[in-house]
Amino acid sequence: MTFEYAPAPEFRAIVTIKPKYGHFIGGKFVAGSKHFPTINPATEEVLSQIALAGKADVDAAVKAARKAYTNTWSKMSGKERGKYLYRIARIMQERAREFAVLETLDNGKPIRESRDTDIPLAAAHFFYHAGWADKLEYAGLGTSPKPLGVAGQIIPWNFPLLMLAWKVAPALAAGNTVVLKPAESTPLTALLFAEVCQQAELPAGVVNIVTGDGSTGALIVNHPGIDKIAFTGSTEVGKIIARAVAPTNKSVTLELGGKAANIVFDDAPIDETVEGIVNGIFFNQGHVCCAGSRLLLQENVAEEVLHKLKNRMEKIRVGDPMDKNTDVGAINSKEQLAKIIELAAVGDSEGAERWSPACNLPSKGFWFAPTIFTGVTQAHRIAREEIFGPVLSVLTFRTPQEAIEKANNTPFGLSAGIWSEKGSRTLWASQQLRAGVIWANTFNKFDPTSPFGGYKESGWGREGGRHGLAAYLKGVSHE
Ligand code: NDP
Repeated sequence: MTFEYAPAPEFRAIVTIKPKYGHFIGGKFVAGSKHFPTINPATEEVLSQIALAGKADVDAAVKAARKAYTNTWSKMSGKERGKYLYRIARIMQERAREFAVLETLDNGKPIRESRDTDIPLAAAHFFYHAGWADKLEYAGLGTSPKPLGVAGQIIPWNFPLLMLAWKVAPALAAGNTVVLKPAESTPLTALLFAEVCQQAELPAGVVNIVTGDGSTGALIVNHPGIDKIAFTGSTEVGKIIARAVAPTNKSVTLELGGKAANIVFDDAPIDETVEGIVNGIFFNQGHVCCAGSRLLLQENVAEEVLHKLKNRMEKIRVGDPMDKNTDVGAINSKEQLAKIIELAAVGDSEGAERWSPACNLPSKGFWFAPTIFTGVTQAHRIAREEIFGPVLSVLTFRTPQEAIEKANNTPFGLSAGIWSEKGSRTLWASQQLRAGVIWANTFNKFDPTSPFGGYKESGWGREGGRHGLAAYLKGVSHE
């Protein structure tokens, strides 16, 4: 049965976008000198002009963060810090609709996801860490935990506000102050968050936000006034950062790429599994570091799973991200679209078989239809490299041992999924898999209480849970 849907657009006017933004330093918005545009990737409409921070701006932000750390934040009791975090969390909830609309406009993700996943989870991170602020001594991280100082935080474009929350909430709960740089293509929700800090009357300089490109990120990484770098993004930039901080005393956490195996055993509940496969790779257009981008099917059920998966994919609604019925929105940037197109073409040239459902893609903006490649082998580039788009590579296996060997045959180790009705098989497989997060009979589930992070080229350290707090405290091991 096919349902016809009338358009159900979200109300855009709930949020006011200024024509131009400056940086947020020392509790105030300060004008920038150079600017660059941020666009809506679904329409290519210019949304606003964003300031490009240079050395003087980063210096000013680090100075403001140091002053706030020394004079105010590190002296304040955990109970008082917790009150501010609760206040921020509540304001984020109150302004959730504004945040969701802004995130969707700037990022291209469906409003259903920003409204139901990104924004509620971002608020949840502040609530969760507010609870820790006055209980750090009981977190099992030493009897007298001390903050590191000023944290430099650099975040990507795939979950802009959520990545901000993952970084800012634990840093503040542990007593650090921060200088954060959002990604060049998605700065708007971080700037709205700066307004929330003002509204919560957070002491000036505790949170500083400088906008810019990779050069601004590099200025933060190399700044001598910074005690800790927290980065989420590509493995390539993660390696540059690791090299830059190696000769310094800076602490560092890196959340990098992934190429997760989503393993389907022959006793899996097939219909549920198909939903999990779709959620694993097409959630957020596949712009997810832990996406289930390598589907490993046990041979005797492969045909049935693929048949049902294709049927399900026929019903995925691709289009206007502001429409509440949309499942897959726009690709975040022209550059990312070019990368997806290039890697998919490599899949064709290496002999894998491409399939996409028929879908009418809008003529403006950046779009890529949900795609699967079958007949993929481990040697194929589409089985090894992060595509970071709505593209699934399908491989098969005969025995559980072969599934594990194929799953672990990657330089990454961020996440994995196991689909099976047998508890013993699930436990056995989860112990063999070299991945930081393993989901069983589900995929892409996130919770502030649960640590997240990877092995090997997927990064160093954990975010979330008690482990994530450890990364913002002195002398505590991160792993
Ligand atoms: P980057 O790693 O380049 O960007 C992540 C953040 O780091 C952005 O804020 C970026 O700024 C900043 N940055 C860039 N260069 C430097 C530098 N030398 N020093 C410090 N900070 C820097 O990712 P891209 O956006 O270029 O995406 C490229 C690929 O990375 C994607 O195709 C995907 O495969 C992967 N990726 C993985 C993510 C993950 O969650 N693991 C998230 C995003 C991307 P700016 O945005 O201004 O360039």
